[in-house]
Amino acid sequence: MVLRARGAPLVLEERPVPEPHAHQVLLRVAACAVCRTDLHVVDGELGRGVLPVVLGHQVVGNVAAAGPAAVLRVGDRVGVPWLAWACGECELCRAGRENLCANARFTGCDVDGGFAELALADSRFCIRLPDGYGDAEAAPLLCGGLIGYRALRMAGDAPRLGLYGFGSAAHMIVQVARHRGSVVYAFTRAGDGAAQKFALRMGASWAGDSTGPPPEPLDAAIIFAPAGELVPLALGAVRPGGTVVCAGIHMSDIPSFPYSLLWEERSIRSVANLTREDGVDFMRVAGEARIEVETEVLPLAEADRALDLLRTGRVRGTAVLVPGVRSRRAGTTSP
Ligand SMILES: [Zn+2]
Ligand SMILES: [Zn+2]
Repeated sequence: MVLRARGAPLVLEERPVPEPHAHQVLLRVAACAVCRTDLHVVDGELGRGVLPVVLGHQVVGNVAAAGPAAVLRVGDRVGVPWLAWACGECELCRAGRENLCANARFTGCDVDGGFAELALADSRFCIRLPDGYGDAEAAPLLCGGLIGYRALRMAGDAPRLGLYGFGSAAHMIVQVARHRGSVVYAFTRAGDGAAQKFALRMGASWAGDSTGPPPEPLDAAIIFAPAGELVPLALGAVRPGGTVVCAGIHMSDIPSFPYSLLWEERSIRSVANLTREDGVDFMRVAGEARIEVETEVLPLAEADRALDLLRTGRVRGTAVLVPGVRSRRAGTTSP
């Protein structure tokens, strides 16, 4: 499913089977989860990326063929995350911060991704997946889970954690945070009772409108929603010394706010992309915590419908495209 122009619908294209070179592997795609970043790529909000491009950066696949220098074998089940490649030579890469590499390439943006039956990936940047997760369940771990986990680490030790925006990432990270002993407060769009109920079901101790205060001050808050107006609201909800982590790749402008919201050593930071080390760490945690992943499975050919469901806030958990699956009405699967 190919994006040929920004804002255009995806086009189903038949292409010749590609051959893996050097470190590459050819994957038979088993599932590819849909992420809000895919919408930002469609809308051209990231200021980067090639066209035409196959979207999708939460790819679960089985190695069908391996290039001569590949570090994976035929038959291996692996995940392909957002970080497709980093140079390994720049100052940031050498400091263990390949997520910030200026030469990095990203899956489904700079190189073709997983809204496809077959995909090429650099085997050195593929991630081993934990046992106990089916293909469709494992796919959302690769971005919502993984980058959500990086955001959770940046939030530091937070016995009382707030999550703003309760979609794909939050429904997994609430479980990891609970597993670590935090009490989680979920904030949704004002009046979104369905999302608040979902948050409570997935393990939040409290759920309410993002415009209101939590019942007690938070140690940290993670903002998953792409709405800049949440930043001053979240700052107002954290205690002195607390941290607000912006986890999205794109956000609307942050409105100006009084210095008193930042005063008392509160901090705001963003989280960008992932390192391979994050992948290894998070998949170990996912194996231990056995995250319940809520998915809505759609056929590959319905990629546009999946994007539209996400755009209009009609997905509970994560939409996942599965090649070969038959179309069915909206429903959810969980383990
Ligand atoms: Zn680099
Ligand atoms: Zn993503």
